Amino acid sequence: MKPQSRNNSNHRSERGGSHFDHNNHQTHSQHRNDHRSFDHSRNNDHNGYHRQRSTQSEQTDVQVEVGQRFPLTIKRLGINGEGIGYYRHKITFVPGALPDEVVVAEVTHVAAHFLNAKVHQIRKESDHRVTPPDTQSAEVGGFELSHLDYPSQLAFKRDVIRQALEKFQPRGWENYDLRPTIGMADPYHYRNKAQFQVRQDADGNVIAGLYKEGTHDLVDLPEASTQNEATMTVIRALVKMLQELQVPIYNEEANSGIIKTLVVRSSEASGEVQVTFVTNSQKLPHKRELLALIEERLPQVVSVMQNVNQSKTSLVWGDKTTKLTGQDYITETLLGKQFQLSPRAFLQLNPKQTTRLYEETIKALDLTHADHLVDAYSGVGTIGLSLADRAGEVRGMDTIEESVDDANRNAELNGITNAEYSVGTAEDLLPQWVSQGWRPDALVVDPPRAGLADTMIDTIMQVQPEKFVYVSCNPSTLAQNLVELGRVYRVEYIQSIDMFPQTARVEAIVKLVLR
Ligand code: SAH
Repeated sequence: MKPQSRNNSNHRSERGGSHFDHNNHQTHSQHRNDHRSFDHSRNNDHNGYHRQRSTQSEQTDVQVEVGQRFPLTIKRLGINGEGIGYYRHKITFVPGALPDEVVVAEVTHVAAHFLNAKVHQIRKESDHRVTPPDTQSAEVGGFELSHLDYPSQLAFKRDVIRQALEKFQPRGWENYDLRPTIGMADPYHYRNKAQFQVRQDADGNVIAGLYKEGTHDLVDLPEASTQNEATMTVIRALVKMLQELQVPIYNEEANSGIIKTLVVRSSEASGEVQVTFVTNSQKLPHKRELLALIEERLPQVVSVMQNVNQSKTSLVWGDKTTKLTGQDYITETLLGKQFQLSPRAFLQLNPKQTTRLYEETIKALDLTHADHLVDAYSGVGTIGLSLADRAGEVRGMDTIEESVDDANRNAELNGITNAEYSVGTAEDLLPQWVSQGWRPDALVVDPPRAGLADTMIDTIMQVQPEKFVYVSCNPSTLAQNLVELGRVYRVEYIQSIDMFPQTARVEAIVKLVLR
């Protein structure tokens, strides 16, 4: 196998940004951005590891140039799923290479403390290498592990947590019960949402897909093995309609044309599909014909929205969303509760695993009916509302007003009267509630990649809820937070769960009990 050349020079900065961007950056990978984007601390881990292990002189002595090739034995996988080897003691990241492989690496980027390289040739192949189903998967992000067999992907995800704990060493980490990662029976076709850029190729054909790593070169994706069928069917049908009707497509260089992005989200339970056209202007030429074709050919589409984004930034969504036809929401069902979703509301991207994630969270929390529960970083309230039947009272918060409105509406929709969601940060609202005399017995936190704010940790240490579950999408910030939390809480177990097969992303549920 010869992976496509990648532009690795942007590799590190592309993954930066510790903010939660609420699905709003258009990069090569929807995976990184749909939920909670990669943060710098993760990338810097690489260098951090290296600095601990070798001296300055070893690093700077190595004379290497871009384009240089050398054989390299791959020792392990890094946290982003790339192969790691050492070229004369200098840590070298080789995406697409696997542990125990011997590759001929070709240097793509030289930095003070590390090298980036691509696979020029594989001399000795890993027994765990598989042929990815997608031919484009080496080009676009979101398929970082698709060349690795699935059992090894699951083992990797558990090991990433172990590596993070080893690095930050929270109290008692050696004895943590790290449970095997819960995987999927079929680790493909799981994504319930596609956010594809739309452009016209040199021949005037409309194409839709993701950017090549680190570039704005769009790769047309007629197939994508991680997307569910509903989203792909609708995307491809829409592309055909745009072509037939000659709807003007956005041109980034000229900043002309109209259609920029297609966002398609499906409900697993109801089969409903919502389509959002992100456009460069309020006007949408051929709107009537387009809506008529959707109605005729795509009866599963029950909601069509338009979002106007005239900015030239890399943000996908503009501020204004209007309805073109149909319903305002699609409805998803999780653990017997219904959730109405507005176009921008956050929902986990893998419905099957979301059910398991929440089941594991419920199990770990082990609520009683008197408990006051806080659902912190609540999104549309999916965790708290799934638990409301088992709790005395639920309070939750999120910084995004739309999500909080959805959460409160969803409480009502499900006849839940003991749950209330507020707009604000966890670190502000939790202490506020406590100072007003409302004390939580149970707490679930599900923060973005940056982890918990220091002030949030301080509050938790003061209030000391008896039951505490930390749902983490970033082992690195999890391990750092556990250093603090470990003074008061003991980790009973860490259950990782694979929400994103074929990618390097790791999700984990941590059960904490008071010491
Ligand atoms: N628990 C939800 C959502 C998790 S995503 C679910 O399972 O679907 C993380 C959420 O944290 C996002 O909705 C984001 O808007 C919110 N968020 C980010 N920073 C926050 C903060 N400081 N306080 C509260 N919520 C925050």
